[in-house]
Amino acid sequence: MKRTFAASLATALALFALPALAEPVKVVATFTILGDMVRQIGGDEVAVTTLVGPDGDAHVYEPTPADARALGSANLVVANGLGMEGWIDRLVKTSGYKGPVTVTSTGVKPIAGEEEEHDHDHDHGHDHGAHDPHAWQSVANAKIYADNILKGLVAAAPDKAAALRTNHAAYRAKLDAVDAEIKAALKPIPRKDRKIVTSHDAFGYYAKAYGVTFLAPVGVSTEAEASAGDIAKLIRQIKKEKIKAVFVESIADPRLLEQITRETGARIGGRVYSDALSAADGPAATYIDMMRYNLGQFTKALTPAS
Ligand code: ZN
Repeated sequence: MKRTFAASLATALALFALPALAEPVKVVATFTILGDMVRQIGGDEVAVTTLVGPDGDAHVYEPTPADARALGSANLVVANGLGMEGWIDRLVKTSGYKGPVTVTSTGVKPIAGEEEEHDHDHDHGHDHGAHDPHAWQSVANAKIYADNILKGLVAAAPDKAAALRTNHAAYRAKLDAVDAEIKAALKPIPRKDRKIVTSHDAFGYYAKAYGVTFLAPVGVSTEAEASAGDIAKLIRQIKKEKIKAVFVESIADPRLLEQITRETGARIGGRVYSDALSAADGPAATYIDMMRYNLGQFTKALTPAS
């Protein structure tokens, strides 16, 4: 009896003596696209909390007390920067978080926030950000994001560096594949036909990387509302250039684009994902799925029916 007890005690102690599974790094990411990238690179080594959820709009988000609590117990905060999360500095301050903040867009070549082509007679009653924050819309930039996230995670948990580096290398290879896929799929569509209308100006980096022209009734932030003049101008342009593809972003109110399609005869090509992923059971649950899904939507609308 005594022996048995001693034996089971020994077994129990042996179990405890097994190398303890190290705690995952607690990461708070500001929105779903960044949260997904942290998960891809962090794998089992991270526990990710995402502040702005699926289909949420990070431009105009209002942080909650639960967000402040999440930051309070985080080891690392991951944010996009370039003015995307106008609320993050205040949230960090009020939460008392003193740890590191990884800004994923560090090292990206930013493009200007104001569209340059038609800025004469432009008198918005609002401020545009100095830079377009949607840098992730070019996969080349997403690779920079991945590098910054790796750096932040390794600094937060040097003991996990080997696993993190392995995940990062695998993820980068997947990003390369998607980048090549996008270029190959758009190649057969003549440059002049690659014109798309979206709700807000979220595809500037995509435009530059992949040679697609995007037009939008509002600027790079959803905070601004389109003026009647902006809308009238866009309607004239859609008619003149015979643009067929109008897309509603998952984060946007569809009514404005519905009005535009009524007045132009253009049709709503479908929904695309610009600033937020879909829910897990949706078509854009990861960054890579989002890029593939959007590509499918764009090419379907731009490829002549013949
Ligand atoms: Zn946006």
